[in-house]
Amino acid sequence: MEVQYSKLELKDNKKPANTMNSVASLVDNAFSRLPYDEKIAVKNLKRPMPQLCLENKQSVKGKDVIRKFKLDIYKKNDWICGCDIKNALFCFPCLLFGGEPSWSKNGIRDLIHLSAKITKHENSEGHLKNIFSLRMLGKITFRMF
Ligand SMILES: [Zn+2]
Repeated sequence: MEVQYSKLELKDNKKPANTMNSVASLVDNAFSRLPYDEKIAVKNLKRPMPQLCLENKQSVKGKDVIRKFKLDIYKKNDWICGCDIKNALFCFPCLLFGGEPSWSKNGIRDLIHLSAKITKHENSEGHLKNIFSLRMLGKITFRMF
C-alpha cells in the first residue's frame, strides 16, 4: 500500500501515521486552511478506509446481539471514511467542508441503529451540499490572467 505524507508532516515528523487524507489530519476544519493544490491532492487520495475494531452489544428481546464493524460499510456507502486513531466512522465530504459534528468531528462509534443514522445523514441538506462541493473541487478553474 502506498503511503503519502503531507509536506508539513515531513517537516516535523511527530505524527508519521498521519497521512494527508487521514481523518486525524482533517478534523477541526483543517481542510479549509489548505492551499488549493493540497486540497486537490486530498481529493485525489480519496477517503481513508481502515479496518476498525468496533463492536457493540445490544439486547434484543432479552438476547444479546453483537454488532461488529465490517469493511463492507465503505462499499455500501461511498462517503463513509474511518479513523483508526479515534476508531470511529466519519463522513468524508462533511469532514472536509464541515457538517454534522457526529459525522465530521466526533465520529460514529455506536453501530446500533447505524443504518438509520446513515440514512438520516445522507439525506441531510448540508451533506448533499458537501458532496457537491467535493465533486466540483478542481473541476472549474478560473484563469484570471
Ligand atoms: Zn456528510
